[in-house]
Amino acid sequence: MTETRKKRILITGAAGFLGSHLCDRFIREGYKVVGMDNLITGDLVNIQHLFKLEDFEFYHHDVSKFVFVPGELDYILHFASPASPIDYLKIPIQTLKVGSLGTHNLLGLARVKKARILVASTSEVYGDPTVHPQTEDYWGNVNPVGPRGVYDEAKRFQEAITMAYHTYHGLETRIVRIFNTYGPRMRLNDGRVLPAFIGQALRGEDLTVFGDGSQTRSFCYVDDLIEGIYRLLMSDYVYPVNIGNPSEITIKEFGEEILKLTGSDVKMIMKPLPQDDPKQRRPDITKAKEILGWEPKVDRAEGLRRTYEYFKSLPKDELYKTAYRFS
Ligand code: UDP
Repeated sequence: MTETRKKRILITGAAGFLGSHLCDRFIREGYKVVGMDNLITGDLVNIQHLFKLEDFEFYHHDVSKFVFVPGELDYILHFASPASPIDYLKIPIQTLKVGSLGTHNLLGLARVKKARILVASTSEVYGDPTVHPQTEDYWGNVNPVGPRGVYDEAKRFQEAITMAYHTYHGLETRIVRIFNTYGPRMRLNDGRVLPAFIGQALRGEDLTVFGDGSQTRSFCYVDDLIEGIYRLLMSDYVYPVNIGNPSEITIKEFGEEILKLTGSDVKMIMKPLPQDDPKQRRPDITKAKEILGWEPKVDRAEGLRRTYEYFKSLPKDELYKTAYRFS
């Protein structure tokens, strides 16, 4: 009897927040996992537990340069990208390159390997949306030359070139549009609202609410997101699918939840609203429900509790590494 070969998957952005959770998931599913990351925003701490495993290997590589992986590949997940507004303000060119050149390289690799590729797109393709909640057939409202343009347009190009490889080359492609996601392994100083608020509460500093805090977001716990991505990869659906939690909240209310969670008595202080900050965001997940049988299971109270436990478990000095790592 011949032994069946284990499936092999390449995950780019493997040392990042989402990439590291995907590595864990596919190792659990019995895959051989090849992680790749240039470690600009990712951190090996997130995947250090995997290095001892025979089924895990890691390449320190920038995917915006030619990508070579020896051996067979069945799947590719392209999750390499700076993904917080602070990151793409600080490293705009790398952000553009990984979404465009990086995606092109990985599509080429997928062709050579006859692999199925799933690319990580984002709710940012909808920009500051004029349609609410956002359905996949909404084309968006993006300022190409604003501070978020480097991320938003790279991701829009990524979707376009991925569809082109599907229609022109018959490549098996999948596109996930990821809405705000949170959970363990978020970077404490990435500037996003959740690590910012929890970090501030733990240090006893006031929470910085941008604008009047009336803008909304809808936060999805990472385990739910990973399940949605897994199901999309295994499905036969080639058009973009929103994955996110439709439970919408204003940033001010979110700040109040963080104060309650942490038992902190600091205040909320208002800071100027960054340019082009979307006023509202909530995914319409009808497609994910119908096509993937997926919907989020972890509510915000539970997800925030787990995330807070993670941040509290970090070495104390991590809390004070507030200086931005590229500055
Ligand atoms: N925000 C805030 N205080 C902070 C960081 C962010 O009020 O310290 C706001 C930000 O202006 C935005 C929302 O929280 O309206 C979510 O920001 P984040 O950077 O997490 O992600 P975005 O959804 O804007 O990409």
